[in-house]
Amino acid sequence: AVEFRQVSKAFGHHEVIRNVDLQVASGEVVAVCGPSGSGKSTLIRLINQLETVSGGEILIDQQPTRNLSGAALRQLRTHIGFVFQQFNLYAHLTAQDNVSLALIKVHGWKKSEAREKALALLTRVGLRDKALHYPEQLSGGQQQRVAIARALVTDPNIILFDEPTSALDPEMIGEVLLVMQELAKSGITMIVVTHEMSFAREIADRVIFMDGGEILEQAAPEEFFLRPKHPRAQRFLQKVL
Ligand code: ATP
Ligand code: MG
Repeated sequence: AVEFRQVSKAFGHHEVIRNVDLQVASGEVVAVCGPSGSGKSTLIRLINQLETVSGGEILIDQQPTRNLSGAALRQLRTHIGFVFQQFNLYAHLTAQDNVSLALIKVHGWKKSEAREKALALLTRVGLRDKALHYPEQLSGGQQQRVAIARALVTDPNIILFDEPTSALDPEMIGEVLLVMQELAKSGITMIVVTHEMSFAREIADRVIFMDGGEILEQAAPEEFFLRPKHPRAQRFLQKVL
């Protein structure tokens, strides 16, 4: 579970997250949407401490997470997978080695065992036959599926996605959404920043709408899409739907 208590984040004098309260239950799938610059990426980057909070606190499974470093931070990131818009795969490593790297470098696994686990995860995302391919030999959709396999390699119970399909050609979005849909059924907690309203509609348990660093609305998808309450959410939906 993830809990924000009065969380704020400023870059210099610019407050980009303002007093956010948020609770995400274990196993819940939450879609975060909102206009550009509204603070969506910052919100999820705070969760695994790619950014640190300026005020308030974030609890992960009831544990405070302020100012973690060293082993405690590694431990946190073991429990939280992160998938970026731009995949961020290592170009000089095969798909399999991209996935297994953290197990070997951070967790001291034997190479052979780490590779075996990586192969199982690549199979799960439909890429068993691409295990020995390098990123440049893979399509964008395949690269993003490798990145998802990599995020899962430490068996996280939370996974964060920052616009995982925004860098993809339209014909590749579906294969990534399918993997995410399977994942959503697995019981992992998912927080997904997305412009993909079909994901929000069909897969998410809840939609969060942000603007100006605040959560202006949160509701079940059917409610949010049919009857958005906040005027800014209404305007946003008119533009994206
Ligand atoms: P987009 O949809 O364009 O990805 P977003 O909702 O993810 O936008 P954020 O990236 O969280 O928005 O940015 C929120 C605000 O914080 C923006 O005004 C942005 O310029 C600012 N910001 C984000 N990261 C930094 C940083 N490292 N330093 C300074 N300002 C930042
Ligand atoms: Mg963003």
